[in-house]
Amino acid sequence: MTNHGIERAPEERVNWSASIPFFLVHGLVLLAFVTGVTTTALVLFLVMFWGRMFFITAGYHRYFAHRSYKLGRGMQFVMAFGGSMSAQKGPLWWAGHHRNHHRYSDTDLDLHSPQKGFWWSHVGWILCDKNKDYDPEGIRDFAKFPELRWLTKHDWVGPWFAGVLCTVIGGWSGLVFGFFTSTVLLWHATFLVNSLAHVMGRRRYATTDTSRNSAIIAVLTMGEGWHNNHHYYQASARQGFFWWEFDPSYYILRGLSFVGLVKDLKQPPARVKAAGRVRDGSFDMGMFKAHWAKAGAAIANVRSHHHDVEADPVVLESDPELATRRDQLDELIATNRAALQDHVANALAHAEELGRLSRRQERQAAID
Ligand SMILES: [Zn+2]
Ligand SMILES: [Zn+2]
Repeated sequence: MTNHGIERAPEERVNWSASIPFFLVHGLVLLAFVTGVTTTALVLFLVMFWGRMFFITAGYHRYFAHRSYKLGRGMQFVMAFGGSMSAQKGPLWWAGHHRNHHRYSDTDLDLHSPQKGFWWSHVGWILCDKNKDYDPEGIRDFAKFPELRWLTKHDWVGPWFAGVLCTVIGGWSGLVFGFFTSTVLLWHATFLVNSLAHVMGRRRYATTDTSRNSAIIAVLTMGEGWHNNHHYYQASARQGFFWWEFDPSYYILRGLSFVGLVKDLKQPPARVKAAGRVRDGSFDMGMFKAHWAKAGAAIANVRSHHHDVEADPVVLESDPELATRRDQLDELIATNRAALQDHVANALAHAEELGRLSRRQERQAAID
């Protein structure tokens, strides 16, 4: 199937039978019309949605994927188990894949780049066979803990625990509305950070990807909407860089640090916050690359369409001279295009390397 000229490899297509639970849970939400919504179920819904959102953003994302603060081993397990209740697989799978997203943002190797289509970046990448497993090498620092390996291997334990708990407390309405409905909304709110936060919003910093800042997504995800800030300076536990950038995950972490449960919360240095702004003229390579790739794909589409027409033998035989000339021009354009493509790719690689070197230099200057 083509989607705006995007070809999908077989292992990148949705595995429908393996994805039955995912779609089934969406359907089960409708049972709320049968069970009704009790007050207990509503409270469970709110606790389950915001509580698990915190474990995903502060735990799976900012701690396991980015190590932006420190935890003792007991608290580390609490974060891991809380995150696993979200039915978003285990901590090592989640954080390992997320590290890969940052390493290869918006390139061919990015697991969920919206450059490969919105649906793909939202859920397609999770429902296909390609990303079923994770690479323990990419998350060696946490894979050494047996309890985290166990939780990742048995990633059904967390969601079942949450589901049974909701049923015990709130009956059928607690299960349907408190657990299933909050789980579905939690899924899509989390997925929006991968899909919409690379499409909608503003870019403050010139990064090599297409990440954006969006207040709406920040409200839905307890502060994950400041995604351009985050791509720009991933080491920070705080994603809203300024007081007006709503970031409740960080506020809670800050609170936990006062009672000693959380340590070494990393913040972006003032110097870093002030640098690299698009409006100050920093070269916005991420957007340039995205537009360039789109333009290249559009030209390729036009050419392949044009070749279909040209292959028509009636057209070719009617005027062989014209056909030869067209072939020559075609070849000439193709050569020029390839040379231009190479030229731009080289220039981008050099600019990217220069950026890396100057960032390293800045870090060294900060240490000295
Ligand atoms: Zn991240
Ligand atoms: Zn991203």
